[in-house]
Amino acid sequence: MTTTEKTKQYVLETYGRFPLTVTRGEGTRVWDELGREYLDFCSGIAVCSLGHCHPALTQAIAEQSATLMHCSNLYYIKQQADLAELIVEKVVGHPGKIFFSNSGAEAVDGLIKFARRFGQATGRYDIITFNKSFHGRTIGAMTATAQAKIHEGFDPLPTGFTYVEPNDLDAVRAALTDKTIAFLLEPIQGEGGVNPMTKEFLEGLAALAQEKDLLLLLDEVQCGFGRTGDLNGYDTIAPGLVPDGISWAKGMGGGFPIGSFYIAEKHAHLLGPGSHGSTYGGNALACAASKAVIETIIVENLTDNVKTREAQIRKTIESWNHPAITEVRGYGLLLGIALNFDALDVPKDSIPSIHLCTALIEKGLLVPPAGPEIVRLLPPLNVSADEINQALQLIKEALDAHLKS
Ligand SMILES: *Cc1c(COP(=O)(O)O)cnc(C)c1O
Repeated sequence: MTTTEKTKQYVLETYGRFPLTVTRGEGTRVWDELGREYLDFCSGIAVCSLGHCHPALTQAIAEQSATLMHCSNLYYIKQQADLAELIVEKVVGHPGKIFFSNSGAEAVDGLIKFARRFGQATGRYDIITFNKSFHGRTIGAMTATAQAKIHEGFDPLPTGFTYVEPNDLDAVRAALTDKTIAFLLEPIQGEGGVNPMTKEFLEGLAALAQEKDLLLLLDEVQCGFGRTGDLNGYDTIAPGLVPDGISWAKGMGGGFPIGSFYIAEKHAHLLGPGSHGSTYGGNALACAASKAVIETIIVENLTDNVKTREAQIRKTIESWNHPAITEVRGYGLLLGIALNFDALDVPKDSIPSIHLCTALIEKGLLVPPAGPEIVRLLPPLNVSADEINQALQLIKEALDAHLKS
């Protein structure tokens, strides 16, 4: 049986997959079963922030796995304490505490539990989240996700969420009730189509949270740890913003599964002994891996590279003045190329972004879609100028080949 056949027979078919089996990776390149090479501008969906098999990460994993992988949170774990210190001191920069999970959805669930605890004293529990958001697939995180197609067929969902249009402070004010306890949002919506929040909106939410004693919770699972050109996605949009809680995953492990959330110091007592937990969460191996990734991002100043490469991408695409592109959205290396359906010649029954991403695989480039109109660019944070040029050339060729005549 081929990998495709075996997957179809034995793996639950929850994913729509592209026809490609990746077997090896190095830097910004991956290879398939037949040895064909691809430029990887998907990075496991913003996960492999240092590219594939970066020596700092593989060495940290090799050494830690030969020393201690796991011992449980019944005991103290040095790698966990070191990583928490690094994140609080060097990334967030405001006093607080970290909980370690294994994924983004769990990190978001942690923030939801934090909000519920915070609201107990005043009888408030309702969390405002935003249309087109994506927060993960657990029952909690998927209910926070304001997309009907994600909820479909899973009733009854937990109560306590109100969905509002993003970048509309009046709509948020109108949605406030005496039960509202928090705002939870992605500074840049990733899966929902690379939709950045405005500075005014983020600052307005922070002011409103202050005024009404609500929590500002930011989901940085996709945009965090350097992806936008700053260590925090929110710093790229609204420098100086001080969230009450932050969730992370994806890029923080460079491919090793780990997630986490931060709670500002003044609220950290709300999740005390016995209130939350995870058997795997924060184990020595995951924390050693994540520390190697984050230290490399900081020491090698990769956020500078992210900003330079973003400018290169924008300048190049602007110079094309391409009829099939309406705009480039996002920040840093979390960018979305928005397609102009009117100019594109794609099969009637196909989803344009998916059709183009499939065509690009055939040309040797991996890029993920985000909704029907967006092709995302999520290369590793250390991608080179040459690799950007090669990828953009392939994209231009694919778009040219799909223009209506
Ligand atoms: C991917 C993502 C999640 C879910 O993370 P998982 O690790 O898949 O559970 C949550 N929030 C955002 C913003 C994401 O992009």
